[in-house]
Amino acid sequence: MFTRLQHLLQSTSGWVIKWRQNYRFSAASAYHTYLYRMANLKFRADVLFTGRELRDDQSVLVLDDDKKVVDIIALADAGDDVQYHPGWLLPGLINCHCHLELSHLHKLVPEQTGLVDFVMTVMKQRHFPEAEIQQASEAAEQQMLRQGIVAVGDICNTAHTLPVKQAGRMQYRNFVEVSGFVPQTAAMRFQQAEAVYNQFAQAGMEQQTAIVPHAPYSVSGALFGLINAHSAGKRITMHNQETLAEERFFVDGQSDFRRLYTGFGIDISFYQAPGKSSLQACLPLLNQTGGIVLVHNTFTSEADIAFALQTGEPVYWALCPNANRYIENRMPPVPMLLKNEVNIVLGTDSLASNHQLSILSEIQTISRHYPEVPLHTMLQWATLNGAQALGLDALLGSFDPGKQPGVVNITGVENNVLQANAAVQRIV
Ligand SMILES: [Zn+2]
Repeated sequence: MFTRLQHLLQSTSGWVIKWRQNYRFSAASAYHTYLYRMANLKFRADVLFTGRELRDDQSVLVLDDDKKVVDIIALADAGDDVQYHPGWLLPGLINCHCHLELSHLHKLVPEQTGLVDFVMTVMKQRHFPEAEIQQASEAAEQQMLRQGIVAVGDICNTAHTLPVKQAGRMQYRNFVEVSGFVPQTAAMRFQQAEAVYNQFAQAGMEQQTAIVPHAPYSVSGALFGLINAHSAGKRITMHNQETLAEERFFVDGQSDFRRLYTGFGIDISFYQAPGKSSLQACLPLLNQTGGIVLVHNTFTSEADIAFALQTGEPVYWALCPNANRYIENRMPPVPMLLKNEVNIVLGTDSLASNHQLSILSEIQTISRHYPEVPLHTMLQWATLNGAQALGLDALLGSFDPGKQPGVVNITGVENNVLQANAAVQRIV
């Protein structure tokens, strides 16, 4: 009796499963027939990275006529006209930290001098004809486009890059940077930044523009207060813990930064070191903003990370390893950041401190120093995380239906590791 009942149950459940499979199959077919009609772009590769996860060569990315993602479907359901690309396909790359307006300083600043001498050299080189600056900015943008970059978090001390941005070839988040360490200059310095901000606003870019502090060591408490109020609710960015001198300047005041201020003829005899890290000293002064992208973080500690996370605001940790190599011959503490599961993103910094503006090159540098970091982890930093950091993830960063993230092809990958000949090109 027991055996007959068991047999009956098994055969019944088998029938149900079969019926469900048939039903699913017919529903899926109707859906895919609909997709074929809607879509004229179908792509597959050896590996498809969606922004979050890896899919194999049996997955097909389907885009509509507007280059919007429709879906990712199985090759067996994809019909004809599937374009195959050797290597990896992924969403367009996001560069979270650049200074497009410094592109004309390419090859003019000596390498590995340390941050203080780097800053002094750059400050002395700022007076170039505007036409030359704009030409160099446009060439730098072209370079980024060729490298598969679709969006940039760009530091602006001027509105020199406005014509390049108005051409609309790429998405930008403009961070109008202000500095001024002497409290008495705060109102005047802020007015100058506001004038630059207003030029971007008048060009219709107010939504994607915010006034931001340069760095903890170059902004007074009074100036932090003005930035905090103006950028309330807005995503901001700040150079953070790029050099040991910054840490010393805040912890005990004995720092190479004193030479920087003396060099510019600025009296900082009023300054008292707060006795804590730069990040812990200044982050509470930015408590009205809508999250922050902290850039460099080469001297960030686990205590700093815990401090930043307890603010409850979104915090993104941008790494620009090629610039760290160029300026200080350092690397950011990638294993420590990974262990703490923070939101990592990538940037190129400017051509004043880099040989190229390429996110792929930044990933190659991290791979060389930390070969244990999986390629797809770094690609998530460079796509979805970057889009979230810049507030552009409704459109960019992943192959979710409805987004228009662009499609990038990386070749020269073996066993999920970038080879020396790895290259990137944008195909959509
Ligand atoms: Zn920078």
